[in-house]
Amino acid sequence: MLYMQTQSRTILFAVASLVFLPAAPCCTAQTEEVDIQKRIHLPVRVHRLQSDQDARLNCSFTDDEIREQFAAVNETWVQAGIVWEIESIVNSEALAPEAFKTAMLNPRGNLAPAMVKNVGRDTLLSAGFNVVVAEDYGLGMGGVFIPAPDGLVFFARKRGTRGEQKPVVLAHELGHTLGLPHTVFEKKNNLMMGAGPSRVPTRTKPITASQIKIARHYAMTGKPFSPPRVQSPVKNKEDLFETLDTNHDGSITVSEAKEEHRPFALNFLRKASRAPSDSLTRKQFDFIIQRGVNPGGRAYGPNVVPKIFARFDRNNDDQLTREEANNKSSLVNRSFGKWDIDGDNILTREEITTSLEKDHAAQELLPGE
Ligand SMILES: [Zn+2]
Repeated sequence: MLYMQTQSRTILFAVASLVFLPAAPCCTAQTEEVDIQKRIHLPVRVHRLQSDQDARLNCSFTDDEIREQFAAVNETWVQAGIVWEIESIVNSEALAPEAFKTAMLNPRGNLAPAMVKNVGRDTLLSAGFNVVVAEDYGLGMGGVFIPAPDGLVFFARKRGTRGEQKPVVLAHELGHTLGLPHTVFEKKNNLMMGAGPSRVPTRTKPITASQIKIARHYAMTGKPFSPPRVQSPVKNKEDLFETLDTNHDGSITVSEAKEEHRPFALNFLRKASRAPSDSLTRKQFDFIIQRGVNPGGRAYGPNVVPKIFARFDRNNDDQLTREEANNKSSLVNRSFGKWDIDGDNILTREEITTSLEKDHAAQELLPGE
């Protein structure tokens, strides 16, 4: 299965490397334009969940209805010159309906890992994208992208009492598979806006020129985006802006960053929905930091809360005390005060989940949107 038309492959790679391997710091802003006429075709295997144990896992979509969903999805993605192509639609027995049932009692932080357990990995399309469709996750979740380990999109036909879901929910989740985070600055019903009253479920949604560049870059890899592990170049985030703004013009670009800081700068801009050739002003930078975006670029997977408890909850009482979390280098220790929402010096799973969901990086990975 080809990802793109053969004749345009060479040109696309050339453009991508110009855009994503920044020129030397001396050089001026890059001007590569994206030619969306050079379509990138992305193969998707659709896994239609089946279950006689739980009707919510038993997807009632017909093949034609699934194809209609993708036709609508492509009406949005044509703006980026990206075409989602159904490679096949397979019926997939839900493997862990009990885990799903339990998770649905308290879906936040639990539903996504339970859904991963319901999918047989041997049926996944390895050279491409996989979308798993259930019937109904209730009001709590329309869809979610889980980057690790397989880069799966979960979607459901219905959303509880709200009824049939709009295909634009699927278009949004597919945006996450191409490295697009929830927008910080872009509103106007942008495809990648997080939840909120200003998000309207129209049939298609706008994408910015920067988002198109980011999405096409990751689309070129032919597989779902996986958050990079990057280290902040500084210990204190107060020093971050000055460190990255090497030419002291009051805005950050990737090309001016020291070579060893570029992966971090690239990822920081990405999290602000900025392409590598874009810049970020001091004001925008401060806004992002204030929102609590983790400048370390650390991404929290769906299992982070269970992992934290497995490691630190020594007496297994499902609560973390400061004594249990006193490992100086740990994220839990550093974040204790911030995460302890009610200030009782005890962290519950709910407090950690809620706190991580406020983190922009975590929003990309935790279920809900
Ligand atoms: Zn989202």
